[in-house]
Amino acid sequence: MKLDEIQAAEARLLLSTYARSPVLFVDGEGVHVIDENGTKYLDLLSGIGVNALGYNHPAVVDTIARQSRKLIHVSNLFYHEGQAELAMRLTERAGLDRAFFANTGTEAWEGALKLARAYAGLKRSEGAKLGTKFLALEQSFHGRTFGSMSTTYKAKYREPFAPVMPDVEFVRFNDIADLRAKFSNDVCAILVEAIQGEGGIRPLSQEFFAEARKLTQSTGALLVADEIQAGLGRTGKWFAYQHYGIKPDVTTLAKPLAGGIPLGAVLCTEEVARVIHAGMHGTTFGGGPLACAVAIAVIDTLEKDGLLARAVEVGDYFQAQLRGLQKKHDCIVDVRGKGLMLAAEVDSAELGKTVVAEMLKRSILINCTSDTVLRFLPPYILERQHVDTAIAALDEILTEQQAAAQSTPGQASGAAGEKQHG
Ligand SMILES: *Cc1c(COP(=O)(O)O)cnc(C)c1O
Repeated sequence: MKLDEIQAAEARLLLSTYARSPVLFVDGEGVHVIDENGTKYLDLLSGIGVNALGYNHPAVVDTIARQSRKLIHVSNLFYHEGQAELAMRLTERAGLDRAFFANTGTEAWEGALKLARAYAGLKRSEGAKLGTKFLALEQSFHGRTFGSMSTTYKAKYREPFAPVMPDVEFVRFNDIADLRAKFSNDVCAILVEAIQGEGGIRPLSQEFFAEARKLTQSTGALLVADEIQAGLGRTGKWFAYQHYGIKPDVTTLAKPLAGGIPLGAVLCTEEVARVIHAGMHGTTFGGGPLACAVAIAVIDTLEKDGLLARAVEVGDYFQAQLRGLQKKHDCIVDVRGKGLMLAAEVDSAELGKTVVAEMLKRSILINCTSDTVLRFLPPYILERQHVDTAIAALDEILTEQQAAAQSTPGQASGAAGEKQHG
């Protein structure tokens, strides 16, 4: 089928959950993804932070080929070669003790929430005064299933599905007084992202994160860090919480973990893990032989090719170039992030949309999150020359938009809207 036929068929056959851009991708190589006409797009989003090694990376495709000829699935009723090997790599890097493997980010997060509730129950049975309440943060994003959605801040994700899971309260981002005011023995866990992703690439302050650690330690509640977007080396450390020198009791991984094959993980301390017994939690597909083999290959490649250091080097260069753009264009109100998790915030949602659409016309993929935050989550194999290409395009687009705004005030974003269907 051609793109227009696919569009028509999808409009008829699929739930209209997505407003897709009108591009049909069929191939990929390195940092580029390729459409049906052979046009190469520079991918600065990597499938929303998933394709850490880019497209068609030999470590990923060879492992998939090899493992798929041996064993794809066997269920969690039996042993296979992958889970222990992968758990060893992850726990060692996280500074945590045990792992549970799921399939997606939200499923990993559900596992973390269940651990926190069950652990509080165990502590109560041992005489502790711990309640069942979760403290999550404003602008947080933890996923789309019921528990995850209930701990996700934006009303648009929760309200259509009300009533959501009770016993969740939101704390103002980086507001220590608000955190203290809302914390009590009722709380079983404080839920954070060291660097909020969907919420706009916003890092926790050192003080706030430290206070969350201190408060949870004072009652036996858990500190749970969602590393689904920031984790596995994107920020230059294996886990973003490691920039703070703070260790959570529980953390979650997913997006880049298995190079595009779905895989999520929950990691926790030995102390927390003692609450889990056979039969309490599980999943049919999670941690299958294929996904685990690919994750092992991804981690070993990140290590062998020094890609965390590369994320810092190219990321710092990218951030410096974005700051240069900010000096030139008043419409960029902030530049922030770490490693290859970067944002340039613009001064209007209209402009955000226009820039994404104009970048797409120039065959560069980015997105705009939280209305005004241009988000960059490129593959870790990105090079300076790719950054230069992106910066030149952004510069050109912002210059054009400014000129358009001056000639016809209020009409600056005429190019927005594209032909997004849905
Ligand atoms: C993407 C994301 C999730 C949800 O992951 P899915 O695989 O889409 O379920 C949860 N938390 C964070 C921080 C994310 O970025």
